[in-house]
Amino acid sequence: MNENDLNRAAETFVGWLQHEIIASARGDDEIQLAVEPAGKFWLGRLAPESSVVARGLGDRGERLDPCACGLRIRTNPGPQAGQCEVRLVLWLQSNTQSRWTKTPKICTTVPIELNPDCPVATFGRQALTAALSLASGAAHFAAEIRVERGLSDESGTEWEITLVNDSQDRDRVVRDTNFYECELRITGLATKPFLLESLPQSFRYDRRVVAYGINCGVDFIPPNELRTIDVPVVSRARPTYWSASTPLPDFRFQTLAEDPLSSSRALLEAMRAWGLEAWGATALDARASSQNWTKAMRAEADVGAMEFERECRRVEKGIRLLEANETLRQSFKLMNRSMTLASRHERWRPFQFGFLLANLSAVVEQTEEASIADIVWFATGGGKTETYLGMILSAAFHDRLVGKSSGVTAWSRFPLRMLSLQQTQRFADALAAGERVRVEAGLVGDPFSLGFFVGSGATPNKISEDPGNGDFDYESDEEVQRARVLLHCPFCRSEDVRTAFDRRLWKLTHHCTNVACWWPKHALPFYIVDDEIYRFLPTVIVGTLDKAAAISMQASMRGLVGAPWGSCSVPGHGYVYAPRAKRPHGCLVPGCNGTRAELPMDPRRYGPTFRLQDELHLLKDSLGAVDAHYEALYDDLQRELCGSMPKILASSATLEGYERQVATLYGRRARVFPQPGPSVAEGFWTTDSTDQMRQYFATAPRGVTLEYAVDRLLTELQTRIRSLIADPAGVCARIGIDPKFALDLISLYGTNVVYGNTIRDLEAVTRSIGTQIAVEGVVNHANLTGRTDFDEVRQTLHRLEHPNPDFASRLHIVTASSMMSHGVDIDRLNIMVMLGLPLTTAEFIQATARVGRTWPGLVIVVPKIGRERDAAMYRCFREFVTQGDRLIEPIPITRRSRRVLERTIAGLALARILILHEPSAPHALTTVSRLRDYLRSGGIVGTSEAAALERLLGFTEDRDAALRADIYDWFDQFQRNLSDPPAGARFPSDASPSGDPMRSLRDVEEQVPVFPRYTT
Ligand SMILES: [Zn+2]
Ligand SMILES: [Zn+2]
Repeated sequence: MNENDLNRAAETFVGWLQHEIIASARGDDEIQLAVEPAGKFWLGRLAPESSVVARGLGDRGERLDPCACGLRIRTNPGPQAGQCEVRLVLWLQSNTQSRWTKTPKICTTVPIELNPDCPVATFGRQALTAALSLASGAAHFAAEIRVERGLSDESGTEWEITLVNDSQDRDRVVRDTNFYECELRITGLATKPFLLESLPQSFRYDRRVVAYGINCGVDFIPPNELRTIDVPVVSRARPTYWSASTPLPDFRFQTLAEDPLSSSRALLEAMRAWGLEAWGATALDARASSQNWTKAMRAEADVGAMEFERECRRVEKGIRLLEANETLRQSFKLMNRSMTLASRHERWRPFQFGFLLANLSAVVEQTEEASIADIVWFATGGGKTETYLGMILSAAFHDRLVGKSSGVTAWSRFPLRMLSLQQTQRFADALAAGERVRVEAGLVGDPFSLGFFVGSGATPNKISEDPGNGDFDYESDEEVQRARVLLHCPFCRSEDVRTAFDRRLWKLTHHCTNVACWWPKHALPFYIVDDEIYRFLPTVIVGTLDKAAAISMQASMRGLVGAPWGSCSVPGHGYVYAPRAKRPHGCLVPGCNGTRAELPMDPRRYGPTFRLQDELHLLKDSLGAVDAHYEALYDDLQRELCGSMPKILASSATLEGYERQVATLYGRRARVFPQPGPSVAEGFWTTDSTDQMRQYFATAPRGVTLEYAVDRLLTELQTRIRSLIADPAGVCARIGIDPKFALDLISLYGTNVVYGNTIRDLEAVTRSIGTQIAVEGVVNHANLTGRTDFDEVRQTLHRLEHPNPDFASRLHIVTASSMMSHGVDIDRLNIMVMLGLPLTTAEFIQATARVGRTWPGLVIVVPKIGRERDAAMYRCFREFVTQGDRLIEPIPITRRSRRVLERTIAGLALARILILHEPSAPHALTTVSRLRDYLRSGGIVGTSEAAALERLLGFTEDRDAALRADIYDWFDQFQRNLSDPPAGARFPSDASPSGDPMRSLRDVEEQVPVFPRYTT
């Protein structure tokens, strides 16, 4: 089947769904009802003003069940005249029976005047009320158009024009005095657009807004008609990734694995040619004059042009390196060869390939490059994980080619507690492909492997010989099976992957049961237990950021910043670290009788090449502040142990304030790829296509609860899809699409995601799925939240990716939290109902990007309209969706907080003792007395440690005096506590004047509020 045709059919289908939902919520297609219309219809209605006032909820009540709708406009100074056309219906109950009947549409045109001398005026009361009486046969109904003058200055005047329901409350005679299907059409006024206040002016964006809706959306129909609409709708186009006039260069992995240079040169040539056109002075001057740019905007455009030229030069440099450096070229080719095996696609998108070229210097010029943090900015997703993987694999091959035969190449961190299994799987697939290629190419060294490094809630940190309560029990088959992380074998894709505990080597392994699998050994090169990650130092470690804190208590974390102490002489035991009472030569395998053997390579090579950070924009407030201290610690330790610093690669959904954020977090200069294009819709790397990607609409429920509205939405969505199953020919004919698409559409639109921002909201939805969704047949439901355990997540993902042929056995509704906004990538999820607005605009972008990944998506936002923030979003929904990435809140973050220092200092100090000092000490430094002895012998000097922390945290300016004093005081007190330990003090942490070191970077969240106003 032609994909294009299906895409068109899907667009039509999404449009139809949207139309059906709105019509049903408003009652468009109903003429008679057996139930009260007020309990059924939740869009387009207006309550009588007296009842809204009587409820006494003020503005909030007015938004929850409005008595007026209309719009806010601006006009030139001076009076104006225009027309208002009011359209509405009434629902009347006849006296003899309980049935309700809808009146025909009542249409009345009312002339209005906007007179600046008159702050409030009403129009059309008589005409409207007469029309209502005539239609209803009752005297209960009244309406008027209200015009209120707002702000006024010499440039113009603001006006609010609303239709108000001024009817009496319902009584025994007339049981419902709401208006339904209300609409206001205004013509004849000359308006001046508002400029969206919350957005900075920029040559890239159009900030003009013709009118704002009041309790509704508004449509502008040129030349001068404004119409209220019940749901503001915004459509976003799917990006295309090639906009140059020259043909797309060959970016197939297979081609690039043979010859990476020809396509690279073609790319650069196309960039340059496109830049001359789009960023050239002629083009910019023309836009400046047609769009009335200010001088500042024109200058800003010149800077943009310069940034693009800089991007060209970075790509050019990557090409030169590929030409000149044979080892790099070979690594790059092997990486591309690996992608042929690992990727679902067969080629790079141009921006991905461009990113790789632009960053290749990080692999070979580590020293120069380490001072820059490179950010992949891709607001709508589109393959950044794969881009990372290309970068990491290039570096991993390069490592093997230049003699780094073991150790970690990259540590990739995600800010959330839960890293998605799909994301992990993508890393595993890429590493496995790399491993095949490494073996084929005959490169020596350890196999490429992956470590899964997350908090102990998900996988065990260690496996003890006699597990206590709550410890991982290696003898329990159930626990062993539950620890499974891989969704399929990364080598052969077989889903028959098992976990097992290998007692002899003390490993919790994943293994593939497919006899034809390429992987020759039993255990897959994949580690999920912290101890095994330390023992085997996988090529790539993927995990959650909170683990960084472990370094202050875990001497074996040394392998992530430098060399282990040695290797165990027993084959299969891996690296060894600081000796402890139970592990006399530092081997982490319980009861090991081996000895400490030499390292297989130069200790200074162990430092990772990359530290990656996904979702950089989430590192803010206290989490960001605390992480900034730990990032500085990791850099410092690696510098001391290896004389190198890792390159930081990060991805971010926003470019708002990223430079300062990166400077604070990493002490590095920030660079972004790709640079934004000359306008929102057009850039070299992406340009809007004619295909629809996602349709967004916002529905503010009127007079009913949010829960009711969500139940109704889900009912409608499920009813429509089920009607398509029952009668494909009939329904397709009605929609106007070929019935041959029915099966595909049922699969693509049969599952609805309900995205909630609080567990409470999601629980409420879950409760009502069983009882309130009134459809034929069963409704199957699953959860994807931070509380869902791994096994369930895996099963749900499986069900979504491999739908049962029988619709009744599929998943129909998935309730999800922000957990799913990260890395869940399923083509069949195309409809999302979003319950309330997420706390950040970034999350809105991330969450809604989960639907419509390949096919047209539908996002239905149900704002919690009582909340001011949601109401504000609803008022400028269109701008919110199209320019949301500019509305992203600047990221509050500081590293200069004394309260944060108080939380981190113990961890920083103890980490330096364990990682840097203990190897030179004659004995372990794990007890108060041992550490005190070592200090007394002069092995560690408190003041020089304090100086080291001061330096690594960068507290070197005058304004940092208080922070510096805190550091010195801490060490002073620490030494005193060691000499004269508090009662019961055994471990060095017991002597910490500021309490235990943090166990997880997450510990801080509830404890240290860092307010933006304290940031520097
Ligand atoms: Zn396999
Ligand atoms: Zn051993």
